[in-house]
Amino acid sequence: MKTAVFVEPGKVEAQELPKPEIKQPTDAILKIVRACVCGSDLWWYRGISDRPKNTPVGHEAIGIVESVGSEVTDVKPGDVVIAPFTHGCGHCAACLAGFDGDCLNPSDDEVVGYQGEYLRFKNANWALIKVPGQPSDYTDDQLNDLLTLADVMATGYHAAASAEVKKDDTVVVMGDGAVGLCGVIAAKLRGAKRIIAMSRHEDRQKLAKAFGATDIVAERGDDAVKAVISLTDGAGADAVLECVGTEQSVDTAVKVARPGAVVGRVGVPQKADMNTNNLFWKNIGLRGGIASVTTDDRNILLDAVLKGDIHPGKVFTKRFDLDHIADAYVAMDKREAIKSLLIVSQ
Ligand SMILES: [Zn+2]
Ligand SMILES: [Zn+2]
Repeated sequence: MKTAVFVEPGKVEAQELPKPEIKQPTDAILKIVRACVCGSDLWWYRGISDRPKNTPVGHEAIGIVESVGSEVTDVKPGDVVIAPFTHGCGHCAACLAGFDGDCLNPSDDEVVGYQGEYLRFKNANWALIKVPGQPSDYTDDQLNDLLTLADVMATGYHAAASAEVKKDDTVVVMGDGAVGLCGVIAAKLRGAKRIIAMSRHEDRQKLAKAFGATDIVAERGDDAVKAVISLTDGAGADAVLECVGTEQSVDTAVKVARPGAVVGRVGVPQKADMNTNNLFWKNIGLRGGIASVTTDDRNILLDAVLKGDIHPGKVFTKRFDLDHIADAYVAMDKREAIKSLLIVSQ
């Protein structure tokens, strides 16, 4: 089967690899329909983070169940499923508390290769999200909306939930990548009245507005803080979604928050240390982490997509097939695409 492989920094190519097989009774084999490139893939693509060379890549997809292990009863061959990057077991303390991204029952074998024709998915019984019908029952746009539920829409939602966004709040969203843009959708879904998107790219500003942003702030650092404080009559935001992960972004997030607000962070932290004393002087809460993909998809997001209430699939601004996987990465790397879509099979 054909699958995308990381060869070395700057080089991803489609290679013929053996089709994966069931290894654990909790596994399922999926035939991938659509997959995509993630902003987080760029860390190893650019050589900023380490990744073993010659390994299959990708962690977001939708597909059709082809076969299941003996302990998988919730999905069966032929079912259409969202394949999250998380693999919650559904019954440990973390999963039961709604934090399936931190499942305490991981099997040690890392699952990779969502950007390929077939995928072995672990903890398939609970973690996979079944979608009604067949791919042909959905429009192209709907399939893209469903695909975002594998990661970016769920991660954006996790930022909003972690920041405790509630009705009529004023919310600041840091980051205009696909996750930040989905954070705008999530803030609106949770009833925010005013959504200030921090973005300095015109294509992303437009999409942020289409998703519900009421204000755009293009400045960064101290100028961004001044702009938000002035937009909020000196108060700061009721909730802040931090979807970048750099030191500057976290620092700005804390500074634009009003006293007592919570910063919900989903940007993967780039630096190990931060001065938490700044939180103390304004009673700021800081929480967040790996998204609860299966929990939030099941409880809120799948329904919102199926009803057509949200259209997160608009973050896919360029499409490719596996033979052009290298171009899909280049488009993301050069910011020519907000997010690159991969059409794997029809
Ligand atoms: Zn991702
Ligand atoms: Zn678990």
